[in-house]
Amino acid sequence: MLTAPQVKEYARRAGADLVGIASMDRFEGAPKQMDPRYIFPDAKAMVVFGFRILRGALRGIEEGTFFTAYSGMGYAGINHVLQPMVLWNVCRWIEDQGYEAVPMPNDWPWPGTDILGNDPAIVGPPRPGFSRPVSPDKPAPDVFVHLRIAAFCAGLGEIGYGKLLLTPEYGPRQRLAAVLTDAPLEPDPLFEGKLCDRCLLCVEDCSGEAISGTETVRVTVAGRELEWGLIDYEKCSRAFCGGSHETNPFMMTPEDEAGFNQHVWTAQTYKLPPTYDYGRAIEGAAGCMRACMVHLEEQGKLRNTFHEPFRRRKPWRLGR
Ligand code: SF4
Ligand code: SF4
Repeated sequence: MLTAPQVKEYARRAGADLVGIASMDRFEGAPKQMDPRYIFPDAKAMVVFGFRILRGALRGIEEGTFFTAYSGMGYAGINHVLQPMVLWNVCRWIEDQGYEAVPMPNDWPWPGTDILGNDPAIVGPPRPGFSRPVSPDKPAPDVFVHLRIAAFCAGLGEIGYGKLLLTPEYGPRQRLAAVLTDAPLEPDPLFEGKLCDRCLLCVEDCSGEAISGTETVRVTVAGRELEWGLIDYEKCSRAFCGGSHETNPFMMTPEDEAGFNQHVWTAQTYKLPPTYDYGRAIEGAAGCMRACMVHLEEQGKLRNTFHEPFRRRKPWRLGR
């Protein structure tokens, strides 16, 4: 019989920094299109993994001098290299024990279930995504599981106002993945702590002005009400991958800007795979991650501690 501590120990040895287990009933009430029980109806547990983003991967962006480490090691490297390797190994090991294991990486492109089109003038009225259900009782593929909610259900932490998962280990500094299994693993209790104090520094420092300071989203998950600031994803995705002159030193000429705008327009309009990876996450999550991390570290709320504070100089901003 496979136990939760065995799975956690194996996953940590395989490279996960955080491991939590959710029971499937915690997803009761999830929108059909986001309900993991449609992926594996006989699943008895979801194992959720956290992979820390190195604080040092954000250093070069904080100083304004080295932008590659975050896009590479802090983003694409985790999502496309470390995380799949860990999932493969954990799933192989679970299946060696006679239980099925469904890997759920955080690196899929999203077009299958997205609603197409933010601007009706450009792409026509919004229409459903690019797939259809295989039978009337099922959601259209691919079911899109909200991994931050999954992590909440697995007891790893809470969702902060800026909509990132906050954990007592790393605050907002991790990426997530999960495995569905029919192994009857004991679930972890939900996180009972309180990390987010609604300081709204994530709103203040968001270079895309993408997080509303007043409008919020509320959902009920596992009997708890969760609330976060309303995010304008178009604004976020533009700013995050370099749309703001203030935070993109690589945007130097009108041609650069035009090329960038065309690239983002194409990606957003046709819902191409995320444009954040491979050198494009150059805004470095100024608000939702860095400002929040600085704030939580200053309050001594995080277990992953450092000898020196992260923010040692006034944050830079470029003029036009
Ligand atoms: S910056 Fe403040 S309000 Fe925003 S998520 Fe962090 S603690 Fe919450
Ligand atoms: S990634 Fe950047 S632009 Fe997007 S919400 Fe976070 S701080 Fe704002």
